[in-house]
Amino acid sequence: MIIILKKESNTAERSELKNYLAESGVKFKENNLDEIPVIFIAENSYHIDSRIVDDFPAVRKAVKLSSPSPLAAKSIKGKKKIITINGVEFGGRDLAIIAGPCSVEGYDQLKEIAVHLKKLGIKVLRAGAFKPRTSPYSFQGMGEEGIEILKSVKEETGMASVTEILDTRDLDAVLSVADVLQVGMRNMRNYPLLKELGKAKKPVLLKRAMDSSIEEWLLAAEYILKEGNAEVILCERGVLNSSACSKRTIMDLNGVLEAMEKTDLPVIVDPSHASGERSKVSPLAKAAVAAGTDGLMIEVHPKPTRALSDGFQALFPDQFEILFGDLKKLKELLKSQVE
Ligand code: PEP
Ligand code: MN
Repeated sequence: MIIILKKESNTAERSELKNYLAESGVKFKENNLDEIPVIFIAENSYHIDSRIVDDFPAVRKAVKLSSPSPLAAKSIKGKKKIITINGVEFGGRDLAIIAGPCSVEGYDQLKEIAVHLKKLGIKVLRAGAFKPRTSPYSFQGMGEEGIEILKSVKEETGMASVTEILDTRDLDAVLSVADVLQVGMRNMRNYPLLKELGKAKKPVLLKRAMDSSIEEWLLAAEYILKEGNAEVILCERGVLNSSACSKRTIMDLNGVLEAMEKTDLPVIVDPSHASGERSKVSPLAKAAVAAGTDGLMIEVHPKPTRALSDGFQALFPDQFEILFGDLKKLKELLKSQVE
């Protein structure tokens, strides 16, 4: 942070500011830049709000230079963080795809879709056992029974699993099966949960809340990184939509690109929740890959019309098969262009 002082500020006003900085635990240096008095803070100023500093009588303007989320911020080298799940590189050159139903609904349902996806070459299966539903009357997930089903299907297919953690009280159960811990958009701001996941030894897939700025999303990632877990995959899943389009949320590719400019962490897209409508999922998935995102998470169900959650946005297995084929071609085309 650089604090530009008012030339005319007096010693008492400057002391007031310096006392505040010292009490806040920051180290600073005073200097003159072209006869303008300035204070430089080199480090440890992440907790200082420049608007508060602006309010001191001695201050003309406080300017933050560093990112508010230093661990999530792009390093100077700009080297992408690669997170490998079951041989699939998120943040590398692979077409990294997570697919599966919204929820675990039973052994037969999960096994059927997992076998289908595996045959296509999908290696990472998604399915929620603990479900965050808007209505308390909606299906809440199978809970621990769902975790046991996911375990069996994982073992039988060799697929990795992504499953949601809603509550720290379920952490042991979820950790017993998850290869990736999913934080849903409702929990992006559940800081005690994020801190716990920062201590876990598993990658975290952090969904962006539908009203979150990029900065707030990266700060949520920072909570996990700060506790020592370096493996965070960011997932855009649609933001509140104020345009004329009739849907409540809209896929924010612009935001994804901005996030990719600001962080080395992999950034993937979930076109299923972003659109909330089956017919839009494939075109949006292709758009996300064409834009250069690091991967996709897509809902696929063996019988979408019978699904207990999010069936209206789940792809039928044959639709997914066509989409996956198209995405592979698209990815090859993009690779050949950059080589
Ligand atoms: C989900 O992935 O099924 C889900 C509930 O997602 P979100 O948190 O993005 O709504
Ligand atoms: Mn869902």
